[in-house]
Amino acid sequence: MSDSSNKIYDAIVVGAGHNGLTAAAYLARAGLTTLVLERREIVGGCCVTEEIAPGCRVSTTSYIASMLRPEVIKDLNLAEHGLRMVPCDPAIQIALPGGRVVPWWADRDRAVAEFRKFSPKDAETFVRVDDRLKKLARYLQPFFMEPPPEIDTGSMAGWSDLLRVGKRFRSISSAEISELVAFLTGSLGEFLDRNYESDIIKTLFLANNVYGKHGGPYQPGTALGLLFHLLSGGEHELQGFFGHVMGGMGAITQALAAAGRKLGVEIRTSAAVSRIIARNGKACGVALEDGTEIRGRAVLSNADPKRTFLGLLSPSELPSDFVHAVRGIKMDGPCAKVNMVLAEEPRFIGTPAGANPLQRSFYTLVPSLEFAERCYDISKFGEIPEELWVDCVVSSNADASLAPQGKHILTCFVQYVPYRLREGNWDQKRELLGDRVVRKIGEYAPNVPSSILARQVLTPLDLERTYGLTEGNIFHGDLTLEQMFFMRPVAGWSQYRTPVAGLYLCGAGAHPGGGVTGAPGHNAAKQVLRDWKKKRFKEAAA
Ligand SMILES: Cc1cc2nc3c(=O)[nH]c(=O)nc-3n(C[C@H](O)[C@H](O)[C@H](O)COP(=O)(O)OP(=O)(O)OC[C@H]3O[C@@H](n4cnc5c(N)ncnc54)[C@H](O)[C@@H]3O)c2cc1C
Repeated sequence: MSDSSNKIYDAIVVGAGHNGLTAAAYLARAGLTTLVLERREIVGGCCVTEEIAPGCRVSTTSYIASMLRPEVIKDLNLAEHGLRMVPCDPAIQIALPGGRVVPWWADRDRAVAEFRKFSPKDAETFVRVDDRLKKLARYLQPFFMEPPPEIDTGSMAGWSDLLRVGKRFRSISSAEISELVAFLTGSLGEFLDRNYESDIIKTLFLANNVYGKHGGPYQPGTALGLLFHLLSGGEHELQGFFGHVMGGMGAITQALAAAGRKLGVEIRTSAAVSRIIARNGKACGVALEDGTEIRGRAVLSNADPKRTFLGLLSPSELPSDFVHAVRGIKMDGPCAKVNMVLAEEPRFIGTPAGANPLQRSFYTLVPSLEFAERCYDISKFGEIPEELWVDCVVSSNADASLAPQGKHILTCFVQYVPYRLREGNWDQKRELLGDRVVRKIGEYAPNVPSSILARQVLTPLDLERTYGLTEGNIFHGDLTLEQMFFMRPVAGWSQYRTPVAGLYLCGAGAHPGGGVTGAPGHNAAKQVLRDWKKKRFKEAAA
């Protein structure tokens, strides 16, 4: 059955995650007729706000905006489409056993004054290290919004790409090179142990830097998070920005969808793509689950690489070594989410009297590096740790419109649970996980367990089933060194193109990876437009 209009779109985007929507908006802005097809009934992928009880809205999956690219915000006029972010201040806050709450203020001088209470030496070190890290992060920043260079190249374009990259590092010193290599390959734990003496300060860094990572803080490669989080974000391009989004994270994707529609993007929801149609090695459309076929000159997939290449294409359409490499992408997701509606505001012990609502909106419950490492060790063998690492955001304190007056929204990210359980399955263990999360929160905010009106537990399996994340991986593939930069999604295919001409990957599985950034969507669209100008696929579906 072919689409009734028999229209040929210039571009079809499979998936309306924030990257798919970003790519679509850039393509439409350049004049391409663009269709977005989303399997769920709402747009947004894992950047959504959903009602979990009447009138109670939650950022069900992602919950803090930190790296949304300022370029995307500006180019697509997202503020005009309702996007508003309020900086988290404190940017991070840990609640510790024994009733102590420690903030990491967004303002650096204020943060340093706070750190001085625990260790004057660490406070001085912090200033020095922060300056170094910010400088190193600035070397990496430009790579975010462009395709990685082609390494295995014989073409002029490839060589000039490498030259361009080389020029960026012209002024880098040898000390900085060794520091960069140390960050790329070293562990967060060792870095912190080397530089800081206070366990509290180390825990503050931990709270910020290994989210979604499959690995404990002492695993090589985890230090990279320190640099990643210093890439500038938010509309004012602040390094280390963390923001609450008014209306929840879904406001980002609603703004992207509105911007796209204004530019001419057509968006269809409840439209699951079952197959990408390829003929003679070229993508020429998609088939929906209901059998409808839609023709397109280019197809961009916002689905993760495994879903795209192993699920939507037949292996015969791809080189066997490519299929082998895709199968090998490390993906099993190490996290879960528990969302709650509460009859009263959580009262975390140790919160200073007089703290304003924003200061009462963000608490990370992880007592130490050792705790985190042990937690990961338990989960890597397929068990749900008894003692969990939970990141709590009282989002109704940042945005009261999320719940009716008197009710509160508590959204909790759980770091380190296994995708594959050693015993049983997640349908059997879902409530056990929810109970452990509630028990852990109760140790720090004793009024929470008895004030729960609604609870939603999203296990790694739910992230896979509901949000379409293969193996529940929140980044469409681990962000480990061997899966980054010119090796993302797999070596040789990091420039958004794929072995099927006219088929592009535009989601978090492509460079620079996961998080709500808009960067892969932006970069993929630019690559499509480059090929469009060269007429590489204009006639493909005709
Ligand atoms: C629990 C959780 C917490 C997180 N917390 C944060 C956070 O606080 N801050 C942050 O920056 N990042 C966070 N992340 C990571 C971030 O949300 C993701 O990396 C990012 O949103 C991925 O965006 P995307 O557009 O590339 O893909 P997705 O958001 O995964 O979108 C892909 C879309 O494609 C659709 N799709 C898939 N297959 C098909 C098909 N066959 N047909 C049609 N449609 C299809 C899916 O339904 C989905 O809508 C979190 C993620 C999760 C899951």
